[in-house]
Amino acid sequence: MLTSRQSPNDLLAALPSQDFDLLRPHLRTMELSFGQLLVEAGAPFKQVIFPHAGIVSTLARLRRGETVEVGVIGRDSVVGAGAAFYDALASTAAIVRYPGAASVIDAGHFRAAVELSPALRNALLHDQSVRVVRAEQTAACNAAHAAEARLCCRLLQSREMAASDSMLLSQELMAQMLGVKRNTISLIAHGLQQQGLIRYSRGRMSIVDVEGLNRRSCECHTADRLTVAQMPVRPCPALLAQRPAQEFGLAQRSPS
Ligand SMILES: [Zn+2]
Repeated sequence: MLTSRQSPNDLLAALPSQDFDLLRPHLRTMELSFGQLLVEAGAPFKQVIFPHAGIVSTLARLRRGETVEVGVIGRDSVVGAGAAFYDALASTAAIVRYPGAASVIDAGHFRAAVELSPALRNALLHDQSVRVVRAEQTAACNAAHAAEARLCCRLLQSREMAASDSMLLSQELMAQMLGVKRNTISLIAHGLQQQGLIRYSRGRMSIVDVEGLNRRSCECHTADRLTVAQMPVRPCPALLAQRPAQEFGLAQRSPS
């Protein structure tokens, strides 16, 4: 039997239909193109973006000019929800690293739906929790694992998110992904190519031997999956609803 999802984005697809209907009239589809800047660090999020496919990279820019990838967002998540949720500015830049379509909504319409929908707030809290788990894993990976193992890991993650063995990936981009010098990437990519694991030409990276790349990768490629799978999908209801202070015993204390 054919089943149809209400959206190609996993977060939107998992919403109850009455909650998705709050967003639906305001959603429009757009194509995310390679290298497209979705928001600059420090700028307000004017729209919230739900990728259907592809990879969006979040980038921290340091004072000396280095740019380092600090997160990736795919079809299971959303770009800009936290900023729209809290009416804050973007803490990192967001740039498209692999193209794909997306559903987009203006921040104002998104905020109005968030106010009306506990299920949407719940989904966003869960999404933020998953991102924290992944950021913790990445921090540990960057501190403890060698650059070659980390590159293999990031290439495997990118392959899964892009659903493709081949992608545009310059050495500069790979250096940003790992936070290392371009020369380091050049040496590692040459070595992986010599071993027949990848093919690299004119900025296009092709993964030739997935199993071989797996063997050279650190464990971080799959390490966060168990933690994420064990996370409750629904947080404590008290987080989602305003309740009187008496329920928590705050008003029953005797003055000392
Ligand atoms: Zn690692």
